Amino acid sequence: MPADSPKTFYLETFGCQMNFHDSEKVVGTLLHEGYRQVDTVEQADLVLYNTCSIRDKAEQKVFNRLSDYKKYKKQGKTFGVLGCVAQQEGEKIFERAPYVSLVCGSASYNKLPQMLKQLEAAESGNTASSAPISTPAAGAPPFAVFEGWESMLPTSGDPNLWNSGGKPAVKSASRRPAAESLIRITGLDDRETDACFETEFTARTNPHRGYITIIEGCDKFCSYCVVPYTRGKERSRTSQSVLAEARQMAELGYTEIQLLGQNVNSYKDSEGNLANRKTFAELLAAVGEVPGIRRVRFMTSHPRDFGRDIVEAIDAVPTLCDHVHLPVQSGSTRMLDAMQRLYTRDQYLERIAWMKSAKREISITTDVIVGFPGETESDFAQTLDLLEEVVYDAVFAFKYSPRPNTPSLKLEDAIPDEEKARRLDILMAKQREIQITRYKKYIGTKCEVMVEGKNEARCQYIGRTTHNKTLNFTVTPTANPKSGSYVPVVVTGSFPNSLLGELVV
Ligand code: SAM
Ligand code: SF4
Repeated sequence: MPADSPKTFYLETFGCQMNFHDSEKVVGTLLHEGYRQVDTVEQADLVLYNTCSIRDKAEQKVFNRLSDYKKYKKQGKTFGVLGCVAQQEGEKIFERAPYVSLVCGSASYNKLPQMLKQLEAAESGNTASSAPISTPAAGAPPFAVFEGWESMLPTSGDPNLWNSGGKPAVKSASRRPAAESLIRITGLDDRETDACFETEFTARTNPHRGYITIIEGCDKFCSYCVVPYTRGKERSRTSQSVLAEARQMAELGYTEIQLLGQNVNSYKDSEGNLANRKTFAELLAAVGEVPGIRRVRFMTSHPRDFGRDIVEAIDAVPTLCDHVHLPVQSGSTRMLDAMQRLYTRDQYLERIAWMKSAKREISITTDVIVGFPGETESDFAQTLDLLEEVVYDAVFAFKYSPRPNTPSLKLEDAIPDEEKARRLDILMAKQREIQITRYKKYIGTKCEVMVEGKNEARCQYIGRTTHNKTLNFTVTPTANPKSGSYVPVVVTGSFPNSLLGELVV
């Protein structure tokens, strides 16, 4: 590669919308630093994985990728692990995959430009700009070491072995294959930060709808969840900065905005001027009133902090989508207590009742965990009963996955995996029946959809309703609705997870 050609990077993202949007910000940061994004690992100088550790399955995927690194290490590529697995496993990643050079949790993304510069300096053998990003833990390797050679790579999990890698030193000014060197940059010590990852360089992948993070981290500490440990403490952006980003997006032609956070409705405005501070519902309404914005969504809401004012905002501001994702996790108060969810079944149902009395019909979706330690048949039956009572439009159900560092690891009465799988199947079958009946009710109604694309094979356009349902529709031979446009569609058929329709002409 000629010395002056831009460095290339490949980024793969695992996990939720938060991770997806973090990646958009990471990509923007890298592009601003002069990197060029490529589509394959083979084309890349720098290979990054933005990881998820919410469940064991997600984490395993990342470790499978890490083992794939082996075959690339001879090619001189640089590897980095970002996100939840990076934060959770920390420097242990260097033991498992010694050719990884960068390990960075999401709370340290603000320092990415600095870390990238350090990485480049280390690779080119120039230590001058290698100021420490973070202080390594006792016994751990220094943050940037480039004297170690492959023969020094540790063979066991003993972190002290790293100390045999020698002291940091400049090896040579020329660019050496990263595979031969031990470059270690970590961003892991910022979980107590008050700062959010705010950047003007977000590289949004969709030109019509985009995310805005309003709150990062989580202070709820549900007994099964890694998020408070991996994403750090809860911190909100100022309403002023959120609104400025919303206005900027509207000016760029975006018409749909989704406000993001682990718990968006725990939002606490940190606006300096007390008089201007907004509640979450007020912020939601203000984003909905930004000229040019036609749809506003928000994800995820925590039932404990879900106030009636959110429903009132949806009633008052037509641009606020009539969809609320309100994870319940279990229909049994006993399980909710063990999960440390901070609400009872009745309190949850009270919030559902507020939504059901809204002026517009609000589509409600949820998350459920089955097989939490100690979940009896009776607890599980209460969850099934709750599905019938609420009539959700979608349920994201998961088998309980024991996670490192979480309090529920210590609970007795673990449910065997086959039993978790059995309960998951029963729950999904029940919800499928509910959705079949529920979605049929839309047949004959007219919905406005945002056009998302075209399925050429089926000669259908793909649209999304304000309820967040996929509505695939056909058009007359002369019509050609553009992606991002809003068109009326009459619903002619339904499936358990989507609707079918025809463009209204
Ligand atoms: N903050 C949101 C809330 O409180 O509902 C949820 C965010 S969490 C990243 C997304 C979903 O992952 C949770 O609602 C839960 O259903 C699921 N989840 C989290 N930890 C889990 C675990 N250890 N095992 C199984 N599912 C889990
Ligand atoms: Fe995890 Fe609970 Fe926080 Fe949601 S509220 S992110 S489930 S700890």
